[in-house]
Amino acid sequence: MSNSLSFFENFEYKNNQLHCENVAFSDLAQKFATPLFVYSRGVLENNFNEFNQVLKNHPAGNNALLCYAVKANGNLAILDLFSQLGAGFDIVSGGELARVMAAGGDASKVVFSGVGKSESDIRAALEANIHCFNVESEAELYRLNEIAKKHGKVAPISFRVNPNVDPKTHPYISTGLKKNKFGVAYDNALDLYKTAAKLEFIKIVGIDCHIGSQLLDVSPCVEAFEKILLLVEKINAAGINIAHIDIGGGLGIRYQRDEVAPKVTDYLNPILDLLQKYNQKNGTKITLILEPGRRMVGNAGALLMNVEYTKLGETKNFVVVDAAMNDLMRPALYDAWHEILPVKTDSQAEEKIYDVVGPICETGDFIGKDRKFASQIQSGDLLAAMSAGAYGMSMSSNYNARVRVAEVLVSGDKVQLIRERETIQSLFANEKRLDH
Ligand SMILES: *Cc1c(COP(=O)(O)O)cnc(C)c1O
Repeated sequence: MSNSLSFFENFEYKNNQLHCENVAFSDLAQKFATPLFVYSRGVLENNFNEFNQVLKNHPAGNNALLCYAVKANGNLAILDLFSQLGAGFDIVSGGELARVMAAGGDASKVVFSGVGKSESDIRAALEANIHCFNVESEAELYRLNEIAKKHGKVAPISFRVNPNVDPKTHPYISTGLKKNKFGVAYDNALDLYKTAAKLEFIKIVGIDCHIGSQLLDVSPCVEAFEKILLLVEKINAAGINIAHIDIGGGLGIRYQRDEVAPKVTDYLNPILDLLQKYNQKNGTKITLILEPGRRMVGNAGALLMNVEYTKLGETKNFVVVDAAMNDLMRPALYDAWHEILPVKTDSQAEEKIYDVVGPICETGDFIGKDRKFASQIQSGDLLAAMSAGAYGMSMSSNYNARVRVAEVLVSGDKVQLIRERETIQSLFANEKRLDH
């Protein structure tokens, strides 16, 4: 059985019991209750090291800055871990900047993305002296210049350029097409750089692109990078220095058994080769910035859930679990597929097909459809939705007055509670009854 799970590194069956590293999921359920997000520290470290090794082993990559995209999973313990491993961070809000700082992250390794940076977000990032603002519009450039002036700062910037390549992913997470709201148009970028170069409180440091998420084909990334290099050549020719190229995030992971996720080498080496060639030809020392999110945390996490009821119907069978779309929104939002594993296996058991659904009053509230489980599955059994480390907890909500669940980090046979389960009282603590 453990072989067929080999893509969920560090999550395997031992004595027919699903484990995260050396800890049985059933023990975690007993100690911390369900639903529960369970992360493997080993997988988080391996994911970071996989990127780091490829970068370190390439002459154009050994001074690269790996900025973990906080929005994939912003738990302080996870940020702390990546920070200790040497990562910087890609943030999209002032709130994420505060998380990074609270986790001991280094602001000088932070890049700030997003189409709607508010005045207070910008002020906080200037005060923290972040590495770079990834500017997404001309209007943002002027706002940044004004705020920097007011606070006696110079804002380091790159433009997020939209290279107009099709990332071949889900439309909701594709961001690099002309019709998307992100970035500045490729054809306007050179003029914008010339404009920015004249602004007193702006310092141009780089160029940036991010074409989408859950990319399983590396060719659009390489294509985008080639287009960016052509632009860099023109920007350089205009006398403007580009110190870094930020290639964004987006590298996909394997959710389904028949998916193949590209290796980090196969993604980064063609890009690093192109960069090295460019630097040699032009006598430049442009460095790389990366913003991986999902690939760093996705397969490091699982959502542990308890079976509340089973319902056998004429056309469908249901397993009703205690986790729901508010805990793991990806199936409802993107029709995303997560492997769902029984915590205890019985290879002899006869199987039936079930939809795994939550208690929320929405038909979209499902974790998985048409899954096979033992026909004697019953209340009190445990299931685990795999690959839930990215965009799981970070997208969760309190819909239906449900508390957000607890999170634990497993390392060998040690377990640390890294987020306590919310209390019901906390859900309405900021609310008031009528004052008359
Ligand atoms: C979401 C996002 C990322 C991370 O994307 P992943 O697919 O999780 O790697 C990186 N950069 C930007 C600008 C993003 O919006």
